[in-house]
Amino acid sequence: MFDLKEYPLDYNKDVLEPYISSNTMNFHYDKHLGTYISNLNKLIKGTVFENYNLEKIIIQSSHSKDTLRIFNNSAQIYNHNFFFKCLKKDSNAEFPKKLLYTFKSKEKFLEEFKVVANSVFGSGWVWLVKEAGEYKIVKTSNADNPIAHNQTAILTLDLWEHAYYLDYQNRRADYIDNFVNNLINWEFVEGNL
Ligand code: MN
Repeated sequence: MFDLKEYPLDYNKDVLEPYISSNTMNFHYDKHLGTYISNLNKLIKGTVFENYNLEKIIIQSSHSKDTLRIFNNSAQIYNHNFFFKCLKKDSNAEFPKKLLYTFKSKEKFLEEFKVVANSVFGSGWVWLVKEAGEYKIVKTSNADNPIAHNQTAILTLDLWEHAYYLDYQNRRADYIDNFVNNLINWEFVEGNL
């Protein structure tokens, strides 16, 4: 059985304001993440998945359409827990030196991240990942995530409407701008490299 308490927020829900409101955090953390957890518990009850940890559930359920609902809910638990750790208001940590070889500068990295984020159509995620020793920016649709593709997640932004609609309505590009300029937890990114 999974429990929301296993995925605590490292900060109070109002600390990301004005970029992300406590109202959004209340819905996003308690309701959305909470629902993925209760759904997954119902779906795996009495199945072999009950004995696996979250990452193994994601990988094993990604192989078949018959387990799509298990994949969607388990991946969304991973994605949200990871996303919430990526958020820190006005982090003054340095841009990680390890990323300079691939992206040349912080500005160029953020520009590419924004371009890929703005190209996501519908619900999805944009990620910085490590794959076979190389850093790259990728997007995924719906609940899909790097774990299902042999990649390591380093940074992500949630582009589902529920992540920004209460604060930004249709202005998704403003949400993306505020994320890259004011909300990236660079210490967390550095630790994932
Ligand atoms: Mn979300």
